[in-house]
Amino acid sequence: MIQTKHGNINLPAFMPDATYGSIKAASFKDVEKTGTEAIVTTTLHIEQKIGSLYIKEFGGLHKFFGWNKPILTDSGGWQVFSLIQSKADKGKNKITDLGCSFVNPNTGEHSLLTPESSQVIQHNLGADIVTVLDDPILGDASYAQRKECIRINTLWAKRSKKKFDELNSHLKVKPLIGAVIQGGNDTELRKISAEELLELDFDIYNFGGMPLHTGITWLTDSKKGFYHEMLEYVSSLIPNTKLKYAMGIGQPDDIAFCVDVGWDLFDTVLPTRNARHGLIYVSEGQGEETKKYKSFGYDTLHLKTERYKFDDKPIDEKCSCEACSTVSRAYLRHLIRIGEASGLRLATIHNLQFYADWMSQIRQSS
Ligand SMILES: [Zn+2]
Repeated sequence: MIQTKHGNINLPAFMPDATYGSIKAASFKDVEKTGTEAIVTTTLHIEQKIGSLYIKEFGGLHKFFGWNKPILTDSGGWQVFSLIQSKADKGKNKITDLGCSFVNPNTGEHSLLTPESSQVIQHNLGADIVTVLDDPILGDASYAQRKECIRINTLWAKRSKKKFDELNSHLKVKPLIGAVIQGGNDTELRKISAEELLELDFDIYNFGGMPLHTGITWLTDSKKGFYHEMLEYVSSLIPNTKLKYAMGIGQPDDIAFCVDVGWDLFDTVLPTRNARHGLIYVSEGQGEETKKYKSFGYDTLHLKTERYKFDDKPIDEKCSCEACSTVSRAYLRHLIRIGEASGLRLATIHNLQFYADWMSQIRQSS
């Protein structure tokens, strides 16, 4: 269990992503009702769209959101990294020892995100769990480039920790801080990264790299198997006295696998994004396709398809969420097909309920 100023998180835990400061289509009350104990939010989006100084003046993210449970913030590094990889980049965005300098594609404004400024922003937001700025490795980077990434990643982690201690030394209940283990598809570099970061003594160690759900992998010929091996390997590098956070993961069966090999914390946009597209997670035997990890099984169903047109059953007979106790599959299908907000909300609530129940099932079995 993780203890924070805003309550406890039972482990292993899944945290939905509140990108831009909202769980799309649902309210925080809806999220709380599913039994979800923590959320993740994206630092750079909040900084750019709202401003962390404004949030500080308002009284912190918890007060602003009306969410009184733990909040984990990312470092903002992933958004900059995505920008660097994007078409909008045109060589304008750079990573140096100092930090990430980038041009906001929407405003044309130049910004600099440093390990220190990322900590200050997260501190202003009042997060319960903060993350150090990290330097992810690109899939096709040369060995020299990958080694350079690890050097910068450790350097930034060291400076982040220093700033974090400075900002929080006076607090009775300090936030927790997580560092990100990088190394791409290279076990030797992963080991170096883990060892260097372990020396700096963080509370949480994160698995860094490409998120599983994008379909982008480091090795195209062995998609899933490779990720599983690497997740197992990186977990083995982290002592069990530390918390382990598999960032951006994942499908329910991937989560079950990761818990089995030692990971404690998870986040992904999958349940919420898929809900809005009518891809629903249900108990085993109630959908179209079953996926399994050991004894943990579930089904998915594509609610927009013809087969649910006359289906008067609830989405999932075993689920107790608002959607399952109020609407039929046929009606929810109609609402999602016309993009009706109430339908997107109910589907989101159900998928989050499914993930919360999935995690409690995993917790009960261990
Ligand atoms: Zn439900």
